[in-house]
Amino acid sequence: MMSLPSKRNERIISGTLQDADRDLELSLRPRTLDEYIGQEQVKENLRIFTEAALNRGEALDHVLLYGPPGLGKTTLANIIANEMRVGIRTTSGPAIERQGDLVAILTNLEPGDILFIDEIHRLRRPVEEVLYPAMEDSVVDIMIGKGPGARSVRLELPPFTLIGATTRAGMLTSPLRDRFGVISRLEFYSNEELKTIVQRAARILGIAIDESGAWEIARRARGTPRVANRLLKRVRDYAEVRADGIITGEVARAALELFEVDEDGLDRIDRDLLLAIIEKFSGGPVGVDTIAAAINEEVETIEDVCEPYLMQIGFLQRTPRGRVATSRAYRHLGLTPPARVSQEQLFDLEGS
Ligand code: ADP
Repeated sequence: MMSLPSKRNERIISGTLQDADRDLELSLRPRTLDEYIGQEQVKENLRIFTEAALNRGEALDHVLLYGPPGLGKTTLANIIANEMRVGIRTTSGPAIERQGDLVAILTNLEPGDILFIDEIHRLRRPVEEVLYPAMEDSVVDIMIGKGPGARSVRLELPPFTLIGATTRAGMLTSPLRDRFGVISRLEFYSNEELKTIVQRAARILGIAIDESGAWEIARRARGTPRVANRLLKRVRDYAEVRADGIITGEVARAALELFEVDEDGLDRIDRDLLLAIIEKFSGGPVGVDTIAAAINEEVETIEDVCEPYLMQIGFLQRTPRGRVATSRAYRHLGLTPPARVSQEQLFDLEGS
């Protein structure tokens, strides 16, 4: 099915996978835990679990990876398969339409294989229910026949590891969440880590970039490797056409200004969002649906792409009564924060 690109899919700073990223990602995806930059805690856990499972000759426990798009969940799933020396079958929550589709996938796995389900929070409920006995006892129950003559048959599955990825752990049902042995949350990357990621990608793609060029891209990549790689590619184009092909700090700055990505990695939609809260709703608190309507954006885009990062850098707060723009957000936009803002925040912090 073809769908028109939404505004979100065109955003240069969106962590969501875009068509133009695909080839790039294949060549840039790290293959081993050692090549995977950052996320030290997650890597250390996975090192221990994979080694223990390998020593026992067992399949790895089921793993849930969660965090905003573009932080490396799919990459990690592939690395785990690589480290465990097993096959990996990749699908996604919305792609599995019927129970039978999932049963077919499960019964075709080789012993020890990994089944990677992206966007696992979007599994249909009946499909999800197939996973419970599969994850717990490596069996599936299928119905044969229809009407009074129908009977349930139990099929044994090979031992396997489910790796689920989600941007919203809160949307997982508890029966599903409880069946994961390992739950890891991916964090936004530091600017240092992103600089290393940019330099690595430039090396692989044969792009000339100096230290300050890598730094300029890193600090505007909103903590997200996918965004860093995408910005690198776009800045390279700019450098080839408008400069002598070498990405220096100055070239990167000029290019990113042209693309309307500011020094903190905010694009126009982020700025519109903050401005709407400040100008239309006196700084908040205001509900996300109201903000979405005011800036003509989807709630999902706001919650998955804008907010996690704006909260991370302290521009936005989520309170029980809605979203609040912080005084840092005012200053970033060149506005004077009213004294009231800090009191409001204090009140909300105390109240939460
Ligand atoms: P997610 O599944 O969380 O949306 P991906 O695993 O597809 O994210 O990662 C997006 C891209 O970012 C990858 O293709 C890879 O090039 C890059 N990337 C992700 N994590 C890392 C990392 N830790 N080190 C280097 N590159 C990374």
